[in-house]
This record gives sequence, C-alpha cells and structure tokens, in this order.
Amino acid sequence: MSVSRRSSGPLRASLGRMTTYTARPIDPSVLKELRSADDAGREMVPVTDEEGGAPLRCCLRRSAPGERIALVSYAPLRRWAAETDTDPGAYDEQGPVFIHAEECAGPAGDGHPFTNGHRTVRRYSAEGRILGGQLVEAAGDFDAAFRSALDDPAVALVHVRAVEYGCFLYEVRRD
Ligand SMILES: [Zn+2]
Repeated sequence: MSVSRRSSGPLRASLGRMTTYTARPIDPSVLKELRSADDAGREMVPVTDEEGGAPLRCCLRRSAPGERIALVSYAPLRRWAAETDTDPGAYDEQGPVFIHAEECAGPAGDGHPFTNGHRTVRRYSAEGRILGGQLVEAAGDFDAAFRSALDDPAVALVHVRAVEYGCFLYEVRRD
C-alpha cells in the first residue's frame, strides 16, 4: 500500500529516516460495525453520491459519481483506545466521515491521500492526550510532519485532520 510496506527489508534500512509513513484507513471490522450503527449509535443512511468528491475514509480516495456512500459518526481515538486498553477521557471525540455504504476493497496505491488542502497533524500520547499539532499545507511536507511527530517518543499516534472542517481524515502510527 505504501513505499514503506514494499520496502520493509534492506531498502528501508538503507533509507533510514526517509521512511514513508502509512495512512491508515478505517479498519474493515470497524467499517462493518459503523454500517450497522455508527459511533453515535445512529443507523447508517446510504445515499447515491450524485456529484462525487466525498473523501472516503475506508478507501482513502474521493468518491466517484454514482457510488453508494454514507456519512457516519466515527470516534477514531475511542477506537484506538479500545485496541490499546487506554482511556482517552475527555479527549474522546467523534465526528462525521464518509464511507462506502457496502463492503469495499480499501485503499489502492501509495502515498498520502487528501493532501490538497490545509491539514493539521495532531499528536496524541500513549494515554490518548493531545500533545499539539502541526499545520501542513504542501503535499510534499506530510512525511516530514509525521517524522517530526513520531520521532518524539512521547507521541504514540497522529491524526490528519482538515483544518477548516476539523474532520478526521486518517491516522498514522509509528509502525
Ligand atoms: Zn471504501
């Protein structure tokens, strides 16, 4: 899916700190739950996306006209915390994300999606606390922002979010 996965052997070692970080889509098992009831407890309402262009967090690409999608509420930190047995407390947030209304193939291809806008790389600690963030505007600056965040041992993961809307786009971890 990304340069880092394909080059996890000697090439990655030779690249050293030039590693490319992987954008993590919403996990298929979580998508299955969200398609039943979302993280706000609401039933999914599928729609046909007539115009296209919705940022899909399942496939990390924009929708094409005519695709069946749904806007659901998703709590990325709560989902991460459940995996890591952490309590994010008041830092828990949920917000709207577009996903395919039916089971889908997930991301295809390399690179960082949704780089055509103002983004913030928000840092979280292993306890699920916000440790600040960095504004990223140029598509070529994302890896440096991820490296800068994850080089800090206090940072466990980062969220990429849209600045104007505040929406969660995807997560990046150290692995
Ligand atoms: Zn999808």
